[in-house]
Amino acid sequence: MKKYERIRRKLIIKRDEIEGRLNKIDKDILHASGAPSPDSGEQAIERENDDVLEALGGIARSELEQINSALERMERNEYGICAVCKNPISAERLEAIPFTDHCIDCAE
Ligand SMILES: [Zn+2]
Repeated sequence: MKKYERIRRKLIIKRDEIEGRLNKIDKDILHASGAPSPDSGEQAIERENDDVLEALGGIARSELEQINSALERMERNEYGICAVCKNPISAERLEAIPFTDHCIDCAE
């Protein structure tokens, strides 16, 4: 599917970037929970940081899922087709949100 080759490359770069970010977040969580502080006040702060890191990880993971499913749709030649109305998604929209599977009319 040559038509979307450029977008495919973009998605792969983005995927690698998110995977790198996730690895870093996982390491940070391990690091934070691996060395419990004796001070209970600091422990509370560490726990809060963990929550933030886990929330960030959740966002990154859902982005990753969207990107992976977009890449799968490319494999199946379904990329660029709206999952709801089966109409083609505009090139401008794919450019702006390359992992979308909804056309602009079905996005709301
Ligand atoms: Zn649609």
